[in-house]
Amino acid sequence: MLSRAKTIQEELIHNRRYLHRNAETGFRLHKTKTFITDELQSMGLSPYEVGGSVAAVLDFGGSTNTLLLRADVDALPMQEKSELSFACKTGNVHACGHDMHAAMLLGAARLLTEQKDKLCGRVKFLFQAAEESLEGAKAALDSGALKDVRAAMTLHVMTDSPYSTGTVVVADGVSAPAADFFEVKIKGKACHGSAPQNGVDAISAAAHVLLGLHELSARELSVSNPAVLTVGQITGGHSANVIAEETVFKGTLRAFDESVRENVKKRLQAISSSIAKAFRAKAKTAFVSGCPTLVNDRALSELAYLAAKAVSGKENVFRSSALTGSETAQKSGGSEDFAYISHAVPSVMLALAAGERKKGYDLPLHHAGVRFDEDALCYGAAVYAQVAVEYLKGESHGKGK
Ligand SMILES: [Zn+2]
Ligand SMILES: [Zn+2]
Repeated sequence: MLSRAKTIQEELIHNRRYLHRNAETGFRLHKTKTFITDELQSMGLSPYEVGGSVAAVLDFGGSTNTLLLRADVDALPMQEKSELSFACKTGNVHACGHDMHAAMLLGAARLLTEQKDKLCGRVKFLFQAAEESLEGAKAALDSGALKDVRAAMTLHVMTDSPYSTGTVVVADGVSAPAADFFEVKIKGKACHGSAPQNGVDAISAAAHVLLGLHELSARELSVSNPAVLTVGQITGGHSANVIAEETVFKGTLRAFDESVRENVKKRLQAISSSIAKAFRAKAKTAFVSGCPTLVNDRALSELAYLAAKAVSGKENVFRSSALTGSETAQKSGGSEDFAYISHAVPSVMLALAAGERKKGYDLPLHHAGVRFDEDALCYGAAVYAQVAVEYLKGESHGKGK
């Protein structure tokens, strides 16, 4: 599969660069979706819109067993600083490599259409919107994207990586943490800055609440079941000589264990309201969006492991359980809304090295200047396609081929 993928490397690069130059975010993906739709149509497929994403089914016949191959395709709203010749100039940037994913999955579709007579069953391609806001997978699911789907696979590129391009890491079990975006509103009472006895200071109360929340990870969680709580934004007050009426802070919570997640959410609420109350203020906590843990299915992980070895060579594929410390690149703490799909059908997410640190690919994902090694494109296309071939292998026996 890899040698075949290498013959379409130029097409992969061309597609990736078009998507990169025209980076779009969230569900506003007009150019991105038009391009993907045209490409799929040129392969004889019939793409359609599902929950703001684009899907297409490749039907080999003989069976309705369907594998979903998913790529996220949205970018981030930042000014690109990569200085690449095809850099995006519209204030968006593909800093998470989703342009790479989209080009790889288009490549896989091309490779799999060539297998028409060799396989049975179906492959559904999902080019997913709005991963960065953790909304796209759920929207696709709610619109029926998983109808007939029995298993799902996706991959994510790694850069600033210790591994050579094309290396694949397969995580066992939970491969990405649950994430919750929260907002805490502290309500006080405004008054003149010279007479604090007449008001309730929402800024001061918020400061105590914030410190209280950090006690959670320090004093209530075990080393084996941690959670990370980050407050990344705080706003409050209008004037230097007025006691602030309201303060709002926003943050994220990550946990690898669903029961830890639920417990921390409860404690976050309790600590916020109790501490605010101690300072005569009121706290209101809201969880505005989020996604569950991403769970890799054991059998599908094994299948993907074999498929990846067939593509990248056995010395370039690792199980994350065999890695230690900082090598566990896959269990990095970043969340993924493919998690929703993994809770609906047996699923697996792979990590694909697309930029080795010592070769100069030394900026992390989400950095405005990040670069990816395009040599990874043919590996990604081949891995997607090979997973489908391995998955549908059992089906093809029924066809007698
Ligand atoms: Zn991202
Ligand atoms: Zn991403």
